[in-house]
Amino acid sequence: MSETSVLIVGGGILGTMHALSAVDRGYKVTQIEREVQARGASLRNFGLVWVSGRAKGRELEMALRARERWEAVGKRCPAIGFRPNGSFTLARTAQERAVLEEAANGPDAPTRGFTLCEPDEVRRRNPALQGTFVAGLFCERDAGVEPRLATQAIQAYLTESGNYSFLPGREIREVSATRAIDHLGNQYRAELIVVTTGAAHVGLGAEVLGSSRLRRVRLQMFETEPFEQQLTTSLADGDSLRYYPGFDLPTRAGLQAQHPQAQRDHMQLLCQQRLNGSLTIGDTHAYDEPFDFDLDERPSDYLVDVLSSLLGTKIPPIARRWAGVYSQIEFDPEGPVYFRESVDDGVVFVSGPGGRGMTLAPEIAEETFA
Ligand SMILES: Cc1cc2nc3c(=O)[nH]c(=O)nc-3n(C[C@H](O)[C@H](O)[C@H](O)COP(=O)(O)OP(=O)(O)OC[C@H]3O[C@@H](n4cnc5c(N)ncnc54)[C@H](O)[C@@H]3O)c2cc1C
Repeated sequence: MSETSVLIVGGGILGTMHALSAVDRGYKVTQIEREVQARGASLRNFGLVWVSGRAKGRELEMALRARERWEAVGKRCPAIGFRPNGSFTLARTAQERAVLEEAANGPDAPTRGFTLCEPDEVRRRNPALQGTFVAGLFCERDAGVEPRLATQAIQAYLTESGNYSFLPGREIREVSATRAIDHLGNQYRAELIVVTTGAAHVGLGAEVLGSSRLRRVRLQMFETEPFEQQLTTSLADGDSLRYYPGFDLPTRAGLQAQHPQAQRDHMQLLCQQRLNGSLTIGDTHAYDEPFDFDLDERPSDYLVDVLSSLLGTKIPPIARRWAGVYSQIEFDPEGPVYFRESVDDGVVFVSGPGGRGMTLAPEIAEETFA
């Protein structure tokens, strides 16, 4: 039986940010991960700390606070690669431009740091954008981190505190008040157990996480060889206006029909340049299980065309492709932004932040301890 103040189950970004919040409060923390290293959604994402399209109200407030927390974590732990690079959402049609204009004139535009830019101004701020678009919405609050590095970098930083240990290769099979048991029969006693097992809706906590308010979503992504130019901002195309609740504005109803490929796979273009120059590009959304186990080429071909037309040049060859799955709470503008349930005294399950989990993780963790 090993003893600790706080036991975190799950080695992804949600668990790791909980570990950071707990260590900062002076607790002794043990974090357990079933793989040798986490390899779920937390490493497979764009690393976008995304404020621009968040629903007004609590979701936006959380995203703004989380973004500040990411910046602070970046100062303590530079290896996460935090950069306050802002983003451009680019309109390619008059209808998309109308949505950008409405957003730029909205009451919370200053909070989000929105500026509507004509193409010349877009190119001045991000000279790599030499292609075809009619306007860009700059969001000053958007930022980026390195998803393949961030989780492990924070864990390495925590290890130096002397109050943290990471135990890989152990799957927790059972949790009850103040006690957890792994697949080897090892027992852990803790005052608080935080379960952050991501999109694993079966096994541990199946009754809790298998609830109908949580669904799983599969995304396809890819990354290119290094691009010779620097993208000074993150990028989104006009299709992203269809999905983000912050753009649920009257002009959105006037958007042109979506390209059949984008419509089929519920796609938008998002692109973040990595610190080594390569471009992380996505994404698709599949909601019906069983999910495909293989990767479909057609969405990638489509996104390569869209990004090339915005950049006005061919993008480098694709170096790698992958899919990822996240857990998402049912969207309800009045409801919770993520899933949290206390199942026993001292056991709390936290999941379901969906496509905003990387962004919100530090704020969600703070809420758990607050
Ligand atoms: C392709 C893709 C792109 C995305 N892009 C973005 C983005 O740019 N910005 C953004 O804000 N969000 C993004 N998201 C969402 C974000 O990545 C997720 O919401 C977030 O990473 C979820 O973190 P997590 O720690 O809950 O889950 P995970 O990263 O899945 O971690 C859960 C961990 O728990 C472990 N585990 C499970 N069961 C057990 C057990 N019984 N015992 C021990 N360990 C266990 C798993 O092995 C896993 O490592 C994206 C998601 C995907 C899939």
